[in-house]
Amino acid sequence: MANIAVIYCKRIKDHSCIACAKCYKGMAEKNGEFAQHDTIELVAMTDCGDCPGLTVPRVKLLSEVTNNLKRPIDVIHFGTCVKLAMETAQCPIDWDELKITLEKKFGVRVVLGTHSY
Ligand code: SF4
Ligand code: SF4
Repeated sequence: MANIAVIYCKRIKDHSCIACAKCYKGMAEKNGEFAQHDTIELVAMTDCGDCPGLTVPRVKLLSEVTNNLKRPIDVIHFGTCVKLAMETAQCPIDWDELKITLEKKFGVRVVLGTHSY
């Protein structure tokens, strides 16, 4: 079982998707990047920290809270919305750098993308 957290784009959430219904469906169906897990326990869902890319302090807080609650995160999925923001909306996140930083700093696996809808 994987304890996962989903991080969404603060600017796009509720504009391209509503209430994260697509990710909840994706998790239930093991669609897209969720297919890599046998079973999924969603432990947290939060935003990226907003532009211009304040993701590291966001994940630090997320990591502290979930560890304190004894529900440590195994994998962080950045939503398909973040992928879209990087491809089409001039999102300032440098994905390669961010992935390495988060994996090294917080001991989690970091995946870009969630559902494929
Ligand atoms: S891609 Fe997923 S995380 Fe992002 S807004 Fe849509 S449902 Fe929410
Ligand atoms: S564009 Fe990028 S940094 Fe800005 S809110 Fe969206 S995901 Fe976060």
